[in-house]
Amino acid sequence: MAPDKLDRYRSKRDFTATPEPGGDVDDAATVEQARVVVQEHHATRLHWDLRLEHEGVLASWAIPNGIPPTPKENRLAVRTEDHPLQYLDFHGEIPKGEYGAGTMTIWDTGTYETHKFDAQKVEVTFHGERLTGRYGLFPIGRRASGGGSDHDWVVHPVE
Ligand code: MN
Repeated sequence: MAPDKLDRYRSKRDFTATPEPGGDVDDAATVEQARVVVQEHHATRLHWDLRLEHEGVLASWAIPNGIPPTPKENRLAVRTEDHPLQYLDFHGEIPKGEYGAGTMTIWDTGTYETHKFDAQKVEVTFHGERLTGRYGLFPIGRRASGGGSDHDWVVHPVE
């Protein structure tokens, strides 16, 4: 199989052991209503996984404290590996010893409108049941203090 955007996703998982989908990049994806899912993931540390349908995969962030509800509140959102579109409705138990072991439930699902989507900024309006309104995400990178990682972003509501 040719290398693709899901290589990192696949390399972390043993699909004979996890119930998670293998999945493929959807090259045919031309979407009128891009979909979003937020999964509540009771892994080693509880976090919420935000996944946005984009260019045939799910661009993903792990948010330790959940989506911030109030304007101007910034929360850490760690950019994680792209997931397959088949992950939009995944929920279940990832077995002990496997990557991301723990229970995953769907916290919310819906669609979103894109205002901007590139490597330096994502700005979208969510139309979910619980997740609604305009949000921005941007990378903050490694801190001058040496803390953090290159995958660190911030998510915040936009007024
Ligand atoms: Mn997760």
